[in-house]
Amino acid sequence: MDIFQDGISELSLVEILGNDMRVVQAARVSYNCESKGAEKDEALIKFLLQEGHLGPFEHVVITMKVTAPIFVIRQWFRHRTWSYNEISRRYTSSDINFYIPKRIGVQDVKNKQKVIDYDNAAFSFVVSDKIRKHSAISLDLYYELLEAGVPRETARVVLPQNLYSSFYATVDLRNLLGFIKERSAENAQYEIREYAKAILQLITPHIPWSIEAWKEINGY
Ligand SMILES: Cc1cc2nc3c(=O)[nH]c(=O)nc-3n(C[C@H](O)[C@H](O)[C@H](O)COP(=O)(O)OP(=O)(O)OC[C@H]3O[C@@H](n4cnc5c(N)ncnc54)[C@H](O)[C@@H]3O)c2cc1C
Repeated sequence: MDIFQDGISELSLVEILGNDMRVVQAARVSYNCESKGAEKDEALIKFLLQEGHLGPFEHVVITMKVTAPIFVIRQWFRHRTWSYNEISRRYTSSDINFYIPKRIGVQDVKNKQKVIDYDNAAFSFVVSDKIRKHSAISLDLYYELLEAGVPRETARVVLPQNLYSSFYATVDLRNLLGFIKERSAENAQYEIREYAKAILQLITPHIPWSIEAWKEINGY
């Protein structure tokens, strides 16, 4: 999925281990039993989520490949229950791309987590253009430093936080749902909200009972 429709941002599902029935099997092992038919199994999933019996959801494991701006990744990597491997700018200087925000709002005066007035197209255009130009100047300096023999690990310090980076991420369903809840909320930053919402869309066909129940319980 191309999150920002810029041909660079990416979210793809590499692999999903387990499904709704894995959650049911893990939960019912307590009673040495696997399934009680679709209707009861689906209801069990909803019950587990409602009651906060979340262990069985740890038996579904998801691996994704993500390309996102560094300021988004910095927020993402605060989630410590995931496993991550990211491209290293010590080892490669190719594929340098920048995220250029298109819809730019204004900082709310009272609420530090709130952005208002997204719909001023003229303001968005001017600010986007400034960010684009700044990114291009940074890139020129980056290449100039590399040409002068500066190591990649030092030259990269001039690249701004809107630089795209890519990583593999693996997480179990329990912790993924925790991430989606926090990062799709209104008080999260727009860009990470877009990834959180896209993940939900990406995994729904693989674990429909779990996601539908979770959405209902969490008011999505
Ligand atoms: C809107 C928003 C604003 C934020 N602003 C800031 C900010 O300004 N500065 C900042 O530093 N961070 C900020 N954060 C990050 C936030 O503080 C959390 O670090 C981040 O959201 C990860 O949450 P988590 O610890 O629940 O997730 P995870 O790290 O994925 O952990 C999942 C769960 O595992 C358990 N767990 C994980 N590690 C431990 C542990 N060591 N001990 C006990 N239990 C553990 C906890 O139950 C935790 O909820 C912000 C987050 C949001 C959503």
